[in-house]
Amino acid sequence: MKIWGTTQVVGVIGYPVRHSCSPPMHNAAFAAMGLDFCYVAFEVAPENLAAALQGARALGIVGLNATIPHKEALLRLVEEISEEARLIGAVNTLHWREGRLWGDNTDGRGFVASLRASGMEVEGCRAVLLGAGGSARAVSVALARSGVAELVMANRTPERGKELAAWLNRQVRAGIARAVELSSTALWRACEAADLIVNTTAAGMFPQVEAMPVTDLPVLSPRTLVYDIIYNPRQTRFLQLAAARGARTLNGVEMLVHQGALAFQQWTGQAPPLEVMREALIQALQRPSSGG
Ligand code: NAP
Repeated sequence: MKIWGTTQVVGVIGYPVRHSCSPPMHNAAFAAMGLDFCYVAFEVAPENLAAALQGARALGIVGLNATIPHKEALLRLVEEISEEARLIGAVNTLHWREGRLWGDNTDGRGFVASLRASGMEVEGCRAVLLGAGGSARAVSVALARSGVAELVMANRTPERGKELAAWLNRQVRAGIARAVELSSTALWRACEAADLIVNTTAAGMFPQVEAMPVTDLPVLSPRTLVYDIIYNPRQTRFLQLAAARGARTLNGVEMLVHQGALAFQQWTGQAPPLEVMREALIQALQRPSSGG
């Protein structure tokens, strides 16, 4: 990679952020396409967020990704916001457009794009979603907006699951979601009938690799897709169980690639080289100190 006087800068802000795998993923994509861009990580403490954005604007930085702990605080700092970021309540992608700071959230759309890339027809599908945290909100908003037929939700703390389902019915699509208990016949039946089962919980993420969001799964059809958005490890215990029950599986690397690809497209106006991004990300995740 060559840095010139003309090189355009994008990057990620977070705290901490040194573990991020986004720089190698995006820089590999720029290099593969011969684009005069580079992507760097900026460690920005929460109290410096507004100053960092002013500085980035003054420096002519084209766009930024945002990660923990800035995603929610950015809602108050952007000048324009996408409907999706507003609904999710978090911003993960920034772009200065004609001088105005625009905030978006590509997590949910990236998730849905990865489903479609795997050959899944999202419209009309029956989905089960485990979890009710930040990524559950992003994924469920995107699924509801993409025309799934139903969303059955289950969470370790049942109240949070009920709240998210009620909020989706109120704010995104009436009647789309219902909450059930984690260890219930209702969840078992919903899994048997599902086209898509998604783990959005942190159960199974390194270093708690033995944990699972549910203790078991029913026998599943090979048409059922079980998706774990965890990317470290890539083959969680939950995905191994799903494969043993007959389902096809997808891991969190795909969501990470596709959410990054949407940001790449916004900043460069070019179609992202997905395979290059995926390879670079997988390599970067193999480093001992890596993360998303
Ligand atoms: P979060 O907001 O903290 O929510 C955590 C969720 O996990 C909650 O629903 C929590 O349930 C549940 N949970 C945690 N430990 C559990 C356990 N041992 N058993 C059952 N449920 C458990 O976290 P998040 O930001 O949504 O992230 C969740 C996961 O998604 C992480 O592994 C993260 O790496 C991954 N992620 C992946 C991508 C990607 O691009 N692939 C993007 C974002 C996040 P309670 O409500 O009961 O606490």
